[in-house]
Amino acid sequence: MKYFLSAVIASIAVIVYTFQFNTDGFAHSHDIAGDIVSAKCECGFETTMKLGGGKANYKTTCSFPYHCKDCFSLSVLNAIGDKFACKKCFSENVVSYDNDSLRAGKSSNNVFGWNVNEKNFSLTDEMYFCPQCREMKLKFSQVGNWD
Ligand SMILES: [Zn+2]
Ligand SMILES: [Zn+2]
Repeated sequence: MKYFLSAVIASIAVIVYTFQFNTDGFAHSHDIAGDIVSAKCECGFETTMKLGGGKANYKTTCSFPYHCKDCFSLSVLNAIGDKFACKKCFSENVVSYDNDSLRAGKSSNNVFGWNVNEKNFSLTDEMYFCPQCREMKLKFSQVGNWD
């Protein structure tokens, strides 16, 4: 069993190394980088999130904020993954922040936008639902990039 585990870990290491080596040139030429986005509300709620994907995972991952209707917390989940569960209470009763029910208006001025697998995920400069005071007073803003 011990030998099996080390063999598995070694193969994963090789795969990860190969993947990074192979995608390096591609990533540089296409400038793959996710956005660092902050969410702030006048009630004091504040969080900083790494959204989108980096060069190592942009084909399989698009990190995007979700609201949990059971425990009222904000979770960053993989929007192109196959399982959506709150990171705090593990409930699957979660709604993506690009859903109209969490948005105060219909602004098209993007603070964050990501296209992957013919799907688009975006956050705009309007007011969103705040998980702490439960009012439409949460504002997203881009504060940087990550890769
Ligand atoms: Zn929850
Ligand atoms: Zn608030």
